[in-house]
Amino acid sequence: MYIKKLVKCSINSPHPPENTTVECQIEWELRYDHMQQHTGQHLLSAICIDEYDAHTSSFHLGKDTVSIDLSVSEFSDNQLIHIENQVNKAIYENRVIKTYFVSKEQAGTLPLRKMPDVEGDEMRIVEIDGIDTSACAGTHVSRTGELGLMKLLKTEKSKGNTRVYFIFGGRALKDYQQTHNVLTTLANQHSTNREGLIDKIAKIETENKQYQREIEELKGKIDHFLAQELIQTHNDPIINKTFEDKSLKELQGIARQINAASNQCVIFTTTLENKLLISHNGSISVQCGPLFKQELKNFNGKGGGNNTSAQAAFENANDLDTFKNFLDSKIRESL
Ligand SMILES: [Zn+2]
Repeated sequence: MYIKKLVKCSINSPHPPENTTVECQIEWELRYDHMQQHTGQHLLSAICIDEYDAHTSSFHLGKDTVSIDLSVSEFSDNQLIHIENQVNKAIYENRVIKTYFVSKEQAGTLPLRKMPDVEGDEMRIVEIDGIDTSACAGTHVSRTGELGLMKLLKTEKSKGNTRVYFIFGGRALKDYQQTHNVLTTLANQHSTNREGLIDKIAKIETENKQYQREIEELKGKIDHFLAQELIQTHNDPIINKTFEDKSLKELQGIARQINAASNQCVIFTTTLENKLLISHNGSISVQCGPLFKQELKNFNGKGGGNNTSAQAAFENANDLDTFKNFLDSKIRESL
């Protein structure tokens, strides 16, 4: 419900001043959704008590999720399906839902789930015929058939209890429409039907793993050839090279191959990521990690490493280049 004409209200004072006349209007779509989720919760809570002595300790009704906390540590998959079936059976039975007022004394004779702490002598009762009697001042549908459909979505552990997420009515229909759309689209894309999707996707995953293995193997061969070429074309104690199209991870692969075959020190930079890599096989005295720790901050770089290998990232290509030249000089001094 929203107030159409509201006088002098704010977040700190959400109510109109006393004796003010306002026009109100119910936002029916939202109200009916709340009626379905809330009444549904009465039904679901009652079924959970009847079937598993699981009592509801709290209820959350949000824009996207609805949940209750139940006083059991966990449910099995079969138990959850059983709860879902029992709730939907009660929906098909289209039971009457009555609301009426009773005195506190009369309330004491009713099979209430919980005696509420209310002011005054009267309290409002909501009764789902033959299933549940609760004290409640909320909004409810008038027959269980109006709940349409219930679907349990997931459970999670919550302080020794189980939080159960669910949807009723319009939300369940919307969820089914979306789910159907996703599954149909995926099935069409993979030229199969919904039942065939799981096998189809499992087959694609297996193929992808195989492709990934083949790619890694080929990359290793390329790294090997590239490393050999760099060793042969650099008649120098340092192989200093900038790449424009390789990631740091790829450069590490090439550097490993060089370090295994040569005593040359590798300084690689990639302008693709503004990153730098240094590595050697222990044949020179430069301790990479400690040097980076001491000097990187002067070049706006971040990184680190161990004695024979280190890497760093820079905010721009200029800082990267300046540090690379500094490093080259530093290593030459140590030779
Ligand atoms: Zn209620």
